Amino acid sequence: MTKPSTISMDGPAAAGKSTIAELLAEQLGYTYFDTGVMYRAVTWVALERGLDIADEETITALAEKIKIDVTRPTVDDGRQYTVYADGTDVTWQIRRPEVDANVSPVSAYPGVRAALTVQQRRIGQRGRIVMVGRDIGTVVLPDANLKIYLDASVEERARRRYLEVRERGQPAEYEEILETMRRRDKIDSEREAAPLRPADDAIIVDTDGLSIEQVLAKVEDLVRGKDR
Ligand code: C5P
Repeated sequence: MTKPSTISMDGPAAAGKSTIAELLAEQLGYTYFDTGVMYRAVTWVALERGLDIADEETITALAEKIKIDVTRPTVDDGRQYTVYADGTDVTWQIRRPEVDANVSPVSAYPGVRAALTVQQRRIGQRGRIVMVGRDIGTVVLPDANLKIYLDASVEERARRRYLEVRERGQPAEYEEILETMRRRDKIDSEREAAPLRPADDAIIVDTDGLSIEQVLAKVEDLVRGKDR
């Protein structure tokens, strides 16, 4: 069996998508692309400029104009990649709690999605890629060769995110993270434009209680054609 060239990895926040996708891409010698950074970059720039997140027209115009670049890491500080928004390095800014709290309304705007989806599709269609997001298997790359949907309970995901933030030396409250995550899940899965859901032909991997190594092993089996 030939290896799948385009692999989509969707699922809710902190299900382990970026960690698993990066490891998988490295093993396969593929590009790893996390589409969430694009929605985050638009959100960060909007907040920084003091724009009203509720103003759909303004936020959509921003998404259509802003130039987002994702490159290999330019600084050795634990980052997976470097993200530029109009030439400014925003790699860590886009992980701030205020971005977490505002990114879902921004990404619910159809015009924002249209602007970013076009760019994602262009990148994805080159193949040899593991592309991560919420709607990759359903909307961005509906013809992906292998579609994986990583899932986990909201409590487990909040716990993972809490540990991640603490590890970066930033203050974190578990209850607050859990609350933000619940809100984000709700908006992401109930929005009209490209809601979070597994594609009909996606394989769902439940990661509750599994280590990164165990999830990776499952995903590798899927790439090799086992359990498919
Ligand atoms: O994956 P990450 O948590 O970085 O994504 C941030 C937010 O961007 C998600 O909560 C979701 O609202 C949005 N997103 C999306 N579609 C994607 C990727 C991310 O709507 N393909």
